[in-house]
Amino acid sequence: MLGFLVLLAQAAIYFAAMVAIFHYRTVIGIGVFYSVLGAMHFLETYLAAVFFIELPFGLISPGSTVMFAGKLAFFLLLYIKEDAESMRQPIYGLLIGNLLMVVLAVILRAYSAPASLPGYNPDLQFLDQIGFLMVWGTVLLFVDLIAMVMLYERLGATVISTIAGRIFVSLAIVLSFDQVFFYAGLRLLSGVPISAFYGGWIAKIGAAGFFGLMLTLYLRFVEETAPRARPQKAADVFDRLTYRHRYEKLVERVGRDALTGLRDRGQFDAKGPAMLRVASQSKLPVSLMMIDIDHFKSINDRHGHLQGDQVIRTVVDTIMRTKREADELFRYGGEEFALLCPETPPGAVALAERIRAAVAATPHSGLDRPVTISIGVATFPADARNFQDLLMRADAALYEAKTQGRNKTLGAAAVGQRSAG
Ligand code: GH3
Ligand code: MG
Ligand code: MG
Repeated sequence: MLGFLVLLAQAAIYFAAMVAIFHYRTVIGIGVFYSVLGAMHFLETYLAAVFFIELPFGLISPGSTVMFAGKLAFFLLLYIKEDAESMRQPIYGLLIGNLLMVVLAVILRAYSAPASLPGYNPDLQFLDQIGFLMVWGTVLLFVDLIAMVMLYERLGATVISTIAGRIFVSLAIVLSFDQVFFYAGLRLLSGVPISAFYGGWIAKIGAAGFFGLMLTLYLRFVEETAPRARPQKAADVFDRLTYRHRYEKLVERVGRDALTGLRDRGQFDAKGPAMLRVASQSKLPVSLMMIDIDHFKSINDRHGHLQGDQVIRTVVDTIMRTKREADELFRYGGEEFALLCPETPPGAVALAERIRAAVAATPHSGLDRPVTISIGVATFPADARNFQDLLMRADAALYEAKTQGRNKTLGAAAVGQRSAG
């Protein structure tokens, strides 16, 4: 009787702690729940192998009964309240973690001999045993969980309509299945008597009832009020780290264009003049290329905006691959880009020409015609005295390239000569 009460108390404490951690996942993160699950998994397997108590109906293991059944119940809760994806992650985690444990336990033997200290007796054989049992247990767990979700879904679609019934029956069937195979592994390994099989089975059905009831109550009365927001004044250091991390991510994203990931017009307006200042100090030239996709409207019209977006991304990829390391690309507007190139002459137009040719040669799936660009190039200080001027000259060259039939590169010098002559 006392043994039974202790068992019940253990189950109640286990459930209360785990469900609280699960409940506050929106505040502290689901990772906390996963980690606790992992720690419990180790204790559970260890206890399942060596710790049994004698109850009227047989030998039972608190590890298997309380913690294993509980673990299945919480996996089911993960599935019900989160999704299959959230449930899959800890399964793979446990499986990989257990395999790694076995490998590392084997590697321990490569040490010539551990220092012999009084009272410290590393039991490698035990580590092997528990490692094997854990791998076997997690492989079974993998099958158990798939079966459990399928049962839960099937039962819902057909026989049993209450949540409580579905949870209990799914848990009971899967725990029975698991008992057969886990006991087989246990028997093979350490010759645990058959009374542990029957005792364990009855206890697991009892556990299915207990956890099924608890889960149902939780889902019914508590989960609906799951906390959704992070508390305003959490003072611990991890919380601050989280905020800093998010802030840095935000700063990184600001000024970037969502479609291409390139820096935007605002960044260009800031970076351009700064680059010119450096150039005039170092007496090294800077070139600006204004790039515009040819007949882009008709690509949109004929293939839709999504395809148009894809064309923009592909063109950007090609430019990024063709430009030099130091050249900086910006998304100036819709399908217009600005490329700032330090120290280019005598090759700025040649570089632009290389980019133009690369874009024209890049295939686009789903398009019947090649995608081309036109580029206007101007160089500081040869063509312009300041940034505003440089932009105007490059833009004028681009306009002229369009007029001359597109898929063309033109330098500001050539345009200037043309209009002069
Ligand atoms: P041109 O050869 O003279 O440049 O002809 P064009 O058709 O490319 O003319 P223009 O440069 O004026 O066309 C820009 C078009 O690009 C208009 C706009 O609908 C489209 N556009 C702008 N931004 C985006 C975008 O992010 N995605 C898509 N799909 N279309 C865009
Ligand atoms: Mg265009
Ligand atoms: Mg345009």
